[in-house]
Amino acid sequence: MNAIELERQVCAANYAPLPIMLSHGEGVWLTDVAGVKRLDMMSGYSAVSLGHGHPRILKVLSEQARKLTVTSRAFHSEPLGPFLAKLCAVSGQEMALPMNTGAEAVETAIKAARRWGYRVKGIADGKAEIIVADGNFHGRTTTIVGFSSDEGYRDGFGPFTPGFVNVPFGDAAAVEAAITPNTAAIMIEPIQGEAGIVVPPMGYLKRLRDLCDANNVLLILDEVQSGLGRTGRWFAHEHEGIRPDGLIVGKALGGGVYPVSAFLASRDVMRLFEPGSHGSTFGGNALAAAIGLEALNIIEEERLVERSAEHGAYMKRRLAAMTQGLARDVRGAGLWVGVDLDPSAASAKTVVSALAGAGVLTKETHETVIRFAPPLTISRAELDWGLDCCEAVFASFAG
Ligand code: PMP
Repeated sequence: MNAIELERQVCAANYAPLPIMLSHGEGVWLTDVAGVKRLDMMSGYSAVSLGHGHPRILKVLSEQARKLTVTSRAFHSEPLGPFLAKLCAVSGQEMALPMNTGAEAVETAIKAARRWGYRVKGIADGKAEIIVADGNFHGRTTTIVGFSSDEGYRDGFGPFTPGFVNVPFGDAAAVEAAITPNTAAIMIEPIQGEAGIVVPPMGYLKRLRDLCDANNVLLILDEVQSGLGRTGRWFAHEHEGIRPDGLIVGKALGGGVYPVSAFLASRDVMRLFEPGSHGSTFGGNALAAAIGLEALNIIEEERLVERSAEHGAYMKRRLAAMTQGLARDVRGAGLWVGVDLDPSAASAKTVVSALAGAGVLTKETHETVIRFAPPLTISRAELDWGLDCCEAVFASFAG
């Protein structure tokens, strides 16, 4: 039995991986067990923004692993303060609550929003509402999928947690109409990732900021996928010059080697958590904190935010040019571009398979969108190599 068959026998089929057995990764390249090397243009859904095996991450990983790893937060550990101080500094927030996965940090934000609704805003117990957007993706817990508009995420998993109100994404008037005295928070992705890199109209976030200010509602942004340079800014909300009341970060924060996430907010919001109110055995452990700090330092010192903006604009231009006649939309920001294919041209899955055959790993979303999200460390030459492959593949579908 080969390794793919073994995996299929014993691993739950909750994903449908391409039949490629990867063996090792270095920088932007992934090599399979047969020795075939391909360019990684999906970066583990943005978790590998620093590329595979970044030498500085590997150094911190091994040094910290030898020194101290997990003690739980029953004790203090040296790396946690510097890590969260840096995270607060780059995000303009005051305090952080460390978790492991994106979904856990989202759950943390939901808890913060509800306590804020009851304890600060005076909403009657059990009545707090959080406004969310259709097409959202915030993770896979039962509470989170409960307010997904994707039936596939929900099917057979109910009953779900009440207290969420869905509105169309990108429509500030719909948010305004949905706000009631029981609204504690609005929680959205500034650009929807899993929905297919859906960019709302410019001015949307600013309108939401104003609505939140006028109605005493928290604006919580999930930047698990869009944050840490992916869109050409440290955080996607900077494109509109606003600051959220709560910010959710994950994925790339773990340097591509470890799950590290956090919920960030003001001191006033974070005061709502007292000892015993929330936690996680692994959240904020010394190894996670050391890696998180190094990941932030690398993003800053290697100017990955600026590089994402520069290379991203170039990548989007080239992808738009090479998919003319095949795509109905090419959208995104920074090194995060969705090519939305005309359904009559080809399915995204077919193109993704062809791209993998030609040496480029990407990921489809729904039937029509292909996501391009290479590591932010990619060089222009590597990007050109990948885009040349893409050009040949798209040309074969056009012809
Ligand atoms: N929020 C957003 C915006 C995401 O894109 C994701 C993952 N795709 C999550 C939350 C969930 O993160 P995790 O898989 O680490 O729980």
